[in-house]
Amino acid sequence: MQQLAYIIASVLFIIGLKRLGSAATAKQGNLISAVGMGLALLATLIFETNLSWPLILAGIVVGGAIGGIAAKRVAMTGMPEMVALFNGSGGIASVFVGWASAKPDMSLAESIPLYLAVLIGGVTFTGSVVAYLKLSEKIDGKPVMFKGQQPVNIALLALILLCGALFCMSPSGFGDPWLIIAILLSFAFGVMVVIPIGGADMPVVIALLNSYSGLAACAAGFIISNTVLIVAGALVGASGIILTGIMCKAMNRSLSNVLFSGFGSATTSSGGADVQGEAKPISADDTYYILEAASSVIFVPGYGMAVAQAQHAVKELGALLEENGCEVQFAIHPVAGRMPGHMNVLLAEADVPYEQLVEPDDVNPNMAAADVAIVIGANDVVNPAARTDETSPLWGMPIINVDMAKTCIVLKRSLRPGYAGVENPLFFCENTRMLLGDAKASVQALVSQFKEG
Ligand code: NDP
Repeated sequence: MQQLAYIIASVLFIIGLKRLGSAATAKQGNLISAVGMGLALLATLIFETNLSWPLILAGIVVGGAIGGIAAKRVAMTGMPEMVALFNGSGGIASVFVGWASAKPDMSLAESIPLYLAVLIGGVTFTGSVVAYLKLSEKIDGKPVMFKGQQPVNIALLALILLCGALFCMSPSGFGDPWLIIAILLSFAFGVMVVIPIGGADMPVVIALLNSYSGLAACAAGFIISNTVLIVAGALVGASGIILTGIMCKAMNRSLSNVLFSGFGSATTSSGGADVQGEAKPISADDTYYILEAASSVIFVPGYGMAVAQAQHAVKELGALLEENGCEVQFAIHPVAGRMPGHMNVLLAEADVPYEQLVEPDDVNPNMAAADVAIVIGANDVVNPAARTDETSPLWGMPIINVDMAKTCIVLKRSLRPGYAGVENPLFFCENTRMLLGDAKASVQALVSQFKEG
């Protein structure tokens, strides 16, 4: 019965994951996966013997309360930090499962997965904590690099492997010194591998750490012979690595470039040609006249739309434009905002029809034919330097080519750079107009104009 319940739970995970692939079915997918997890938990609690119920109940109450309150309180923009902490929790859980399962005289088939669970779990734990601190700007998001960093990392890894080999060959149980040293070194390694990565690359790191937390859970599943943990861990491991690949592709970077190049300071410009010129401001009134006459408008939302919580106003403006006979599309860049799918989530919350959402590859070929591209608090994902300036840190990143539209209107509060800290020549283009101010206030002003007139 227990194995049957685990198989059903695994199937539910797979169906749930598949449904997460489209915004239209994602909520349902999430629910199906949650039911699978509930079933797996129930089957474990019912069929496993020797359970310490007081401890389990305490874990459910304390863990459930922390998770529930944190999830309720977190702002949409804080979601990546929260995911980082969840990954870290998965990592440390695998460390504990592995460590607590260590017994004297285990076979290699038992000690190797145990060692892998604590090693990968340890790296995931501290790596995720550093990613959290960088993303939430509790520590500086700049890459921390020093001379001899690579040799230090290689030496650390060699030591971890040596301790692992010594432990696996003759494990002496919970207090095995080699195991304990391996755990401590894996904590240090997690910090070392994430500090040289800049804040702007944290989403990729989080997707990768997500994958690691899955692998650690999978190894933990082997230790305690729990099939559903093996399956769930493998699913997380595989989907995390696929997401990592998608995000690297969206930035046109290789994974090794993300991990080792030290790119992505959160606060300062990190290179690129000097960007100069005069930005041409525009008022909401004049923007209204341009939009009113347009027959095709492409919205490009970014992080600023999330900060301003402008999605509902944007949806309303889109609907008014449509009523006015205009074709409306929303171009979504895969790394716009601060988490994968950030813009999709916000626009779905505002009930923007899915069929109006388009990907950069589909919208870019038609950009020159668009009357207006209206940028709502996006910056890096529309920076033409990625296409034109080989010295720019953004060089090669696929962007949404709003500069090619007949008119481009940028809604933001100032000319300050975006997350990557790179100046944006878009603001000075001949066909660009800057509608400066809070994105929600600006869009609401446009909505009022349409309603009045
Ligand atoms: P950016 O961070 O490049 O730019 C956002 C812009 O929004 C800022 O320049 C800011 O300008 C403006 N803004 C902020 N608040 C408001 C407001 N209230 N009203 C109007 N404008 C506002 O965002 P993008 O979405 O273009 O790019 C995302 C960046 O974040 C990329 O570099 C990506 O790599 C990185 N990243 C992505 C993650 C993801 O998973 N999607 C996670 C973490 C980082 P101003 O201050 O002048 O108003």
